[in-house]
Amino acid sequence: MNNNLIAVYPGSFDPPTNGHIDIISRASVIFPKVIVAITHNQNKEHLFSLEERVEMMEQSTSSLKNVQIDSFSGLLVDYLDNIGSFVVVRGLRALSDFEYEFQMALMNRTLNRKIETVFLMPAQEYTFLSSSMVREIAVLNGDFKKLVPDAVYKKLKNNKRI
Ligand code: ADP
Repeated sequence: MNNNLIAVYPGSFDPPTNGHIDIISRASVIFPKVIVAITHNQNKEHLFSLEERVEMMEQSTSSLKNVQIDSFSGLLVDYLDNIGSFVVVRGLRALSDFEYEFQMALMNRTLNRKIETVFLMPAQEYTFLSSSMVREIAVLNGDFKKLVPDAVYKKLKNNKRI
């Protein structure tokens, strides 16, 4: 067992949901250190800025001591190389996630053959949950309190863009 093993959980997290936090806490039990790496993609329209997503994620994971929040732009394999990691964590909700995730995992391995992707399944109650669904419910004034961490709930409630 490598005690310095770092697992990286990449994603856009726009915004973080309880499904993401479920995956992060499961990963934090398995790996000595987990870095949640928030993607900075200028070509993608985000509801929340990178800074806001980082802040919400920090507030939502503050009780998990071996979890750290970071951000990156460019290729995930380059980011992994920079921080000395070869393990990627991704969440699998349903069969519909599988094809895209399978393709990404094998592409990352094509770019760097050392990369391993580990898939974790959330608790059943989160298998229907996605950031886009939370955004939609918020826009339509539905109740999304049970779907996101408190810090995200407050931020979404106060979001003037919704
Ligand atoms: P991306 O833009 O990279 O897909 P997301 O923030 O949507 O970023 O998701 C990041 C990761 O979290 C992905 O592996 C996704 O499958 C997983 N994920 C998203 N929602 C959930 C959920 N409710 N339960 C478990 N995993 C999830």
